[in-house]
Amino acid sequence: MANAAKTGNVLVLVETDGSGAPKSTAAALLGAAAAIGTPVAVAVTAPGQGPSLAEQLGSLGAGQVYLAESENAATELGTTIVGALSAAAAAYAATVVLVPNTNDSKTVAGRLAIVAGGSVAADAVAVRYDEEGQEVIVSHSVFGGDFTTESAADGGLLIVTVRPGAIEARADAVAAPQVEYVSVSTAAAPGATILQATDIPAQTGRPALRGAKAVVSGGRGLASKENFALVEQLADTLGAAVGASRAAVDAGYVPQSYQVGQTGVSVTPQLYVALGISGAIQHRAGMQTSKTIVAINQDGDAPIFEVADFGVVGDIFSVVPQLIEEINARRN
Ligand code: FAD
Repeated sequence: MANAAKTGNVLVLVETDGSGAPKSTAAALLGAAAAIGTPVAVAVTAPGQGPSLAEQLGSLGAGQVYLAESENAATELGTTIVGALSAAAAAYAATVVLVPNTNDSKTVAGRLAIVAGGSVAADAVAVRYDEEGQEVIVSHSVFGGDFTTESAADGGLLIVTVRPGAIEARADAVAAPQVEYVSVSTAAAPGATILQATDIPAQTGRPALRGAKAVVSGGRGLASKENFALVEQLADTLGAAVGASRAAVDAGYVPQSYQVGQTGVSVTPQLYVALGISGAIQHRAGMQTSKTIVAINQDGDAPIFEVADFGVVGDIFSVVPQLIEEINARRN
C-alpha cells in the first residue's frame, strides 16, 4: 500500500446511543479508516455531550472529530448527519466516507450520495488501496459468503457501508483529538422526525446478536422451546449472544429478532456455534463469514459441516452438556 494513499482524510460516521456515547460499530470503522488514511470521526451530538464523545472517539483512534451539535439530535432521522458529512467532506477534502451497515446509516449513505454526489458501496467486509495506492477497493461477501467481489468508485465521493463485525483492525488511541464544532444546514436533505421513542430494556445480560464477538445459535434440532435453554446455557458459558435458525423461530422457540440468515440478522463473530442446524443456504447467508464456525449435528451429511471449521457428529443433548462442563472445568 503506497504511503501517499494513506495521507487522505477518511470520514467515519459515528452512531451514538441515547446517552451520547459512540455505538460499538465506531471502533472497527475507525480501524478501517486508519488503514487507508487519516480517520475523521463525524457525529451529531446533543449540546453538552461533545467533549465526552470526542474523548471516547480519541481513545478509539480518531485524531480529528467533527461534531454537529443539535438540540434535536435524538429525534432526527439522518437529516443533520447528512449535512454534517457533506460539510466535513468539503472541509477535509475527503473522498471516502465509512458508515456502519445498519438501517439508519444505510439511509444516510443513500442521502449523502445524492446531496454530495457520490457512489455507495454497500455491505463491505474490507477496504484497502489498490497496488498502485491510487484507488480504494471495497470487498463484499456475496451469495451467502460463497464469493468475494470487489468494487471501486468511478470518481466522486465513495461512501462505504461496512458490515458490523467484519473488520478486526483497530486504530491507535489519540490522547487529545482535535475537535471542531459546527452548525450545519439541514435544508438540503429533509428527513423524518422521531415523534416517540421507547427504550426496550435488554431482556438478558447477553450481548446483542448484531456485532457480537461470539454467537451460539440453535435450530429445529432443539425440538422444543424448553430445550432451547441448552443453547442459552452454552451461550452464557461462552459470554455469547444467542441466535437461531428460521425453523427454530417458526416453531416458536425464540422471537424473530434471534433469526440469523438471509431474512434475519447477518453476523460475523469470531466464533459461531451452530447447534442442531442443518445449514441451509439461507441460514449460511447470515453466518458464513464468521471467523471460526463450530457445528454440532447428528447428521454427518448436514451441509453445515461444509462451512464448519470444527464439527461434532453427535446428539446435541449429549454433547453440549459435556462441552459446558469441560469449558467450566478448564476455566476453574
Ligand atoms: P432443519 O433443516 O430441519 O435442520 C435441523 C437439523 O438438526 C438437522 O440437520 C438434524 O440432523 C439436526 N438435529 C436434529 N436433532 C438433533 C440432535 N438431537 N442433535 C444434533 N442434531 C440434531 N433459514 C434461516 O435459518 N435463516 C433465514 O434467514 C432464512 N431465510 C429464508 C428465506 C427464504 C426465502 C426461504 C425459502 C427460507 C429461509 N430459511 C431461512 C429457511 C431455510 O431454508 C431452512 O429451512 C432453515 O434454515 C432450517 O432450519 P434448521 O436448520 O434449524 O432446521
